[in-house]
Amino acid sequence: MLHDLVIVGAGPVGATLALALFDSDLDVVALDARPAGIIARSDRSLALSHGTRLVFERLGVWSGVTATAGAVTPITAIDISQRGGFGRARLHARDHGVDALGYVVSYRALQRALDSALGRAGISVEHGVGVTRVSATAESAHVVGERNGAAVEWSARLAAVADGRGDVVGYIGRRRHDYGQAALVARIWSIEPHGGLAFERFTDEGPMALLPEEDHYGLVWTTTPENASALVALPEQAFLAALAKRFGPCAGPWIRVTDRRTFPLALEFATRIAGERTVLLGNAAQALHPVAGQGFNLGVRDAYELAQELLASSIVTDRDHFGAPQFLAAYSRRRAADRWSGIAFTHGLLGIFGADVSLLRWPRGLALTLLDVLPPVKRVFTRAMLYGLH
Ligand SMILES: Cc1cc2nc3c(=O)[nH]c(=O)nc-3n(C[C@H](O)[C@H](O)[C@H](O)COP(=O)(O)OP(=O)(O)OC[C@H]3O[C@@H](n4cnc5c(N)ncnc54)[C@H](O)[C@@H]3O)c2cc1C
Repeated sequence: MLHDLVIVGAGPVGATLALALFDSDLDVVALDARPAGIIARSDRSLALSHGTRLVFERLGVWSGVTATAGAVTPITAIDISQRGGFGRARLHARDHGVDALGYVVSYRALQRALDSALGRAGISVEHGVGVTRVSATAESAHVVGERNGAAVEWSARLAAVADGRGDVVGYIGRRRHDYGQAALVARIWSIEPHGGLAFERFTDEGPMALLPEEDHYGLVWTTTPENASALVALPEQAFLAALAKRFGPCAGPWIRVTDRRTFPLALEFATRIAGERTVLLGNAAQALHPVAGQGFNLGVRDAYELAQELLASSIVTDRDHFGAPQFLAAYSRRRAADRWSGIAFTHGLLGIFGADVSLLRWPRGLALTLLDVLPPVKRVFTRAMLYGLH
């Protein structure tokens, strides 16, 4: 049977795509390696922009996420500074007429809300299917996988790959830039309540972020892999002292840390987002450094925009157009500016603020001071935080 669309991976991005198409008459099937009702991944905090919240509201998912106690923490202000240099900027949501600049959201709570919304909408998700390969001819895409040890196969006019990796598609190249750094992430408690204030601090070892989550902060500490391993192994009080020394007095004092983990930092992206009868979206298309909080929001926009392209095409053309070269070219064009500016912004942020080049401290300090004192500059920056960079 030839479906209109096969979605590989019903994680946050694949599920968003399926939901955005739910009241169309397209024949869509979504596949996921997870067993039904199970979220295999341990929890992580996603940084959601205001624009992403609007998408989830439109899809009827946001109320499901907020219904879980502690799953959503609004970011009401962001304090941006650099260690060992002048300059500081503080952005407030209230100055821009919104309740929050963004939100810190539990991955598991979001996925549960998306899974329930898929169920309510009667969207077919085939769980327990591990896709091993996507191939294509000029007419259709072929998705091969296995379920309970048996081979399974689907054909569609278009395959949308949102499996978080993209390597099941052999005919789209990938690039990887290793920053030679690691991110140490942890949950951290301060004596003072966070009050929705987030911190982004640039240091000579790379950026650090503190994101308000429930009754504590989520910490992202960029450093060398060796230092990250040493910090994870420190006794609790020694770790808190090291953090206070590194971060400075602008936040804290710290009283407790849990769930310390490290992972290598790399930028990985597909050289193009469309190949024959196939598109890549979300982390399968680009996996960005978490420091700028751009990656997840970019993935949600990939899904939403692909849905808009499919809906527009389904009205004016016959279905073979889905996944045909003109369709793929139109979708690639539609995503190009947003995608490349997200990649460049994150990479540039690391280049400008991540390196220990003392000559850069002055321009950096100036940039932060200008950001704070010049309302138009601040507005442009805040708009990018709220809605993305396109
Ligand atoms: C270690 C790490 C830490 C991160 N921390 C942060 C953070 O602090 N803040 C932030 O905003 N973002 C963070 N991110 C990024 C964030 O997790 C992603 O932006 C987001 O998960 C992308 O969603 P996605 O749907 O594209 O992919 P995923 O969330 O990876 O979902 C992919 C889905 O596809 C399914 N799947 C995978 N392989 C197959 C297969 N072969 N066949 C079928 N189904 C398959 C999976 O079961 C899953 O449901 C982090 C990422 C990583 C890797």
